[in-house]
Amino acid sequence: MQDRIAEWAGPDDEGDGYVSDLSTAPGWKVGGHIAWNLTGPTALNCPSCGTELSPLLTAASSEWDAGTTSWIPYEDRPTADAGRAWGPTEVSPGRGRLVIAVCPADPHHPIRLISQ
Ligand SMILES: [Zn+2]
Repeated sequence: MQDRIAEWAGPDDEGDGYVSDLSTAPGWKVGGHIAWNLTGPTALNCPSCGTELSPLLTAASSEWDAGTTSWIPYEDRPTADAGRAWGPTEVSPGRGRLVIAVCPADPHHPIRLISQ
């Protein structure tokens, strides 16, 4: 399977890369999926009811980097190289990304903070 994916994805230095350009959106976002780049996936279950937690909000120190330029919003592309255009909020959470995960079964159940 890994060989088939590598054949489909092509060389890393040509065109879009699956992980960096197509599957894992960097930056701030509501909902979506958690990027487990640093630690690998971990089970996130609600401590009150056991339901799998869902990402509510991701806060990130940058909206893109040199490997994720395909995610630069079209309106930001003309000035993408200026100053700190990649980090307009100037928020720097922990390791670069903080996810607030919530229980979809009951909003009163405890939240969980994930730093990646
Ligand atoms: Zn719960």
